Amino acid sequence: MYRSLYFKIILILIVFVTTVMALVGTILLSGVTGYFSDDFKNQMDACFADDTEMMRYLTSNMANGEGAEALNITLNAYSGSLGLDDYRAYAVLSPDGEILAAAAQNTMFAKGGYVTLTPNILAVMNGRSGTGQQYGADYFDYCIRLSGDGDSLLIYVRDSKQELANLSWMLFTIILQALLFGMLFAIILSFFLAKTITAPIQSLTRGAQQMAAGEFENEIDVHSEDEIGTLTDTFNHMKVVLKNTLDQVSGERKKLETVFYYLKDAVIAFREDGSVMHLNTTARDLFAAREPDAEGVEKNLTFSGMLAICGIEDTPKFREDMEDDLKNSPDGCVIRELTIGERVFDLSLGNYNYVEENEMQSGIIAVVHDVTGRYELDRSRREFVANVSHELRTPLTSIKGAAETVLRYPDMPEEMRENFLEMAVEESDRMTRIVGDLLVLSRLDNNRTKWEISTFSVDGVLQHLCEVIGSDASAHGHTVTLRVEDNMPEIMADKDRIEQVLLNILSNSVKYTPDGGHILVRAMALDGFVGISIRDNGMGIPEEDLPHLFERFYRVEKSRTTGAGGTGLGLAIAKELVDAHGGMIHVESKLGEGTEITVLLPVECRLNVEKPAGA
Ligand code: ADP
Repeated sequence: MYRSLYFKIILILIVFVTTVMALVGTILLSGVTGYFSDDFKNQMDACFADDTEMMRYLTSNMANGEGAEALNITLNAYSGSLGLDDYRAYAVLSPDGEILAAAAQNTMFAKGGYVTLTPNILAVMNGRSGTGQQYGADYFDYCIRLSGDGDSLLIYVRDSKQELANLSWMLFTIILQALLFGMLFAIILSFFLAKTITAPIQSLTRGAQQMAAGEFENEIDVHSEDEIGTLTDTFNHMKVVLKNTLDQVSGERKKLETVFYYLKDAVIAFREDGSVMHLNTTARDLFAAREPDAEGVEKNLTFSGMLAICGIEDTPKFREDMEDDLKNSPDGCVIRELTIGERVFDLSLGNYNYVEENEMQSGIIAVVHDVTGRYELDRSRREFVANVSHELRTPLTSIKGAAETVLRYPDMPEEMRENFLEMAVEESDRMTRIVGDLLVLSRLDNNRTKWEISTFSVDGVLQHLCEVIGSDASAHGHTVTLRVEDNMPEIMADKDRIEQVLLNILSNSVKYTPDGGHILVRAMALDGFVGISIRDNGMGIPEEDLPHLFERFYRVEKSRTTGAGGTGLGLAIAKELVDAHGGMIHVESKLGEGTEITVLLPVECRLNVEKPAGA
């Protein structure tokens, strides 16, 4: 309250009013006192001047030796000029101060008594002038000496200042009243003044409080054009600028947060003490499954805990290496191909600075990048190269062995030599087949396959294929049955490639069915597709091998099929070709009972090539 502007203004105004009044009072009172004092002296000087009538009478009274009574009569006659009243009287004194005569009805001087000796009386007694005025005395007085006939008397006039005191008191009461009114006026004025000054300040304060609470909508009204008006105007402008800036910042922040939270990489920011500061959804999903309390990943996960989940021990040596990598390696600290569950990740670590409890701290940011796809690709590439090398080396070794044997033993029997040479030719054919198959796959991979699209009947193709494998099948004692639905639609596709697909499947049935088996080939129309199924009652495929059947070079129990001479590329090529046609291939098999492979081909061509004219 005492610090409020209102109180300060009241105080200032009261002090101001009091000071002014005190000053005015002092000047006024001293002016009045001065005036009275001057007035008294001037009046006395005028009365007792040598050339005045009264003075002439007084001088003649003295010259005639008429004594104090005669002086009294003369003075009394001039009481009007002397300004005698209740407060002013005169006395005729003997040279030693005895009151010889005094103005009639005065209360100041009693005849026969002695007057109180004032500086003026003393001055006259000592032969000096007795007309001076003493400030501070409670009277005005005037004394002269009249001499005549060897005798001398003193005339003494005294004014009790009562009139001045009355006037001064009246003035003082007026000033006091004015002061009281002034104070009252000051209080009322200061109330309005404070209100005028504080109202805009209060609304500015309210505006600042709203701003601090994040409310930027309301504008503060500007009522005046003075400094406070300009300040309010500037404040409103600042509010708009601040709001825009904050909007921009929060927009950017939201964008970053969205990117951060929905980033496919898991990102975790750890504090200096290893606890989690931020983590995104991916990180929560990744580590929640490995925390006992799924809700509390933020609470429970630590930097060391995360490293442990990644299979790394958080030792001083690890920290040292990490700092070393961060300083020296261009990629920073990246730990590659860590396995978490069934997936493979690269872990990147970096330092960041943040402010907490007004102190700059340094934390660690961990980015866990899922590289399972790349890892799998690398792995299958490596496997593929190993498989290709292996598949090509086997026939090459046989060819080399056969050729060396023929060279080393020129005298070997003709039949044996022919056997060796036939073996070399067979192995060369096998190599040619493998290379051919790899070429087909490579062209499919690179979209460089030249498709020959035509419209043909599946029935015709199947009949032709049954004839092609007929001799081989009957050599193994298999029966091949073909069942094609009536009114099968013709399909638009690359006929040679479709024949290759079906031949691969059919020859597998022949190969992997013990002699005397049954192979059933069926074709049916299915809503925009043509379904072709090839079923045998052969050795079947174990369940765990089924998902890998279409992988390149994948063969079920290699020892089991080596005799059949497969490469593991037939079904991979079949799937790629069917996929390219927009179809589907599906395998069902039971170990020891048989296998059924179904191919679905769209009637309309879905190959990614321009249709030949007239097709
Ligand atoms: P391969 O050249 O070895 O025959 P494929 O890709 O054609 O290669 O077949 C892959 C593997 O699938 C074969 O090695 C074989 O073990 C198995 N397989 C394919 N078809 C059959 C079938 N009808 N019966 C049993 N096993 C089969």
